[in-house]
Amino acid sequence: MEKIVSGKYFLKCITCGRQYNVDPHILTCSECGEYNGTLDVIYPYEEISKKLGKQGLIGGNVFEIFDDIMPFDFPAFIPTVYIGGTKLMKSDALNHYCGTSRTYISDDTRQPSASFKDRATSIAIAMAKQAKMSTMAVASTGNAAASTAVLAAASGMQAILFVPKSAPLPKLTQLYIHGAKVLKFDARYDEIFDLCTQCCKQFGWYNRNTAVNPYTGEGKKTAALEIFLDLGRAPDNLIVPVGDGGIMSGMYKGFWDLNELGLIDSIPRLFGVQAAGCAPLVRAFEDDAQIKPWGKVSTSADSIAVALPRDGIKAMRAVRQTGGRFVDVSDEDIFKAQFDLARLTGIYAEPSAAASFAGFLKLMEGEFIKKNEVSVILITGSGLKDTSFSTKYLNMKEKPLSPDIKSVSKRLGI
Ligand SMILES: [Zn+2]
Repeated sequence: MEKIVSGKYFLKCITCGRQYNVDPHILTCSECGEYNGTLDVIYPYEEISKKLGKQGLIGGNVFEIFDDIMPFDFPAFIPTVYIGGTKLMKSDALNHYCGTSRTYISDDTRQPSASFKDRATSIAIAMAKQAKMSTMAVASTGNAAASTAVLAAASGMQAILFVPKSAPLPKLTQLYIHGAKVLKFDARYDEIFDLCTQCCKQFGWYNRNTAVNPYTGEGKKTAALEIFLDLGRAPDNLIVPVGDGGIMSGMYKGFWDLNELGLIDSIPRLFGVQAAGCAPLVRAFEDDAQIKPWGKVSTSADSIAVALPRDGIKAMRAVRQTGGRFVDVSDEDIFKAQFDLARLTGIYAEPSAAASFAGFLKLMEGEFIKKNEVSVILITGSGLKDTSFSTKYLNMKEKPLSPDIKSVSKRLGI
């Protein structure tokens, strides 16, 4: 491995504030450890702000427009498939249903692997290639692994993926079809996370694991930057599904960067949604206590079924510092939200992604979000990645019809 010579930023521990120069070997704070010592990527904001004052925001995609707050050097090794570019969607039907007029959806089911995680993987690939590493590993509930499989294939890298055998079949299929090396475990995601990190050290693989890799958050923040580009301002509220907390912390970082650059006046209130059957951050938030591992996990929203959120400290900071909150929703609430979103907007969200819409409705009911505010709901993965959740609730068991008009008429009651 070669030392990355960038010099345009440094790393800072979120717990003790210790600063580190950029080095591919340094991912977390040596003093605080891998859980407490996750790092922020800090850029010279004043200098960049002066430059932006002269030239404004220019470039093609979000990576180019905000190249000064990207951790890699340009020209970069971004995968050949197109990443980002999500335009906010404003559905009249959805706004009517919610009694709002300025609710927007950020639909990341459109990314190459059909999940938000491609934003993180793209930066991880750029960083790995810059360090001249050709194998990348990740532990994942499914989406980050699928994203790594897809983008490694598009970049000529080898992916080694640590996944629970319980991951939904479509997500597992993505891993195999793209030629990744798949390691399936009879264990939960959070139970194989440390093993993956140990293997990265032992075998010299690039570690794409969320939270312990500070750069994945720099990829996730591109969604916040795109929301700003679309709205020309920060929204009042942003609603995010939370498992590990990595998307939440990435969105916070994006708006924090924009605020440091003087492009927005304040960071939106960040609201994190967890499944009621696995809600360690909701519990820690409500008890004003430290994050403790959740006992028995009981939810079918697999992407957010994380008993010990690896980026929990950053996610909690994001919610507390912006005046947001964490909220939980039942699997029944999630299905109702998934169905309503699908029939009203045409977006089929996976259960974990639909959780953010379910949470939005609950937060409005509790008057934590007001109807006249600008809210953005993040939809982070496609429903086609786990149809078994929907089919459990949908009535699809009617008998096949005989092919004649009479049977059509009878079935439709017309
Ligand atoms: Zn530290």
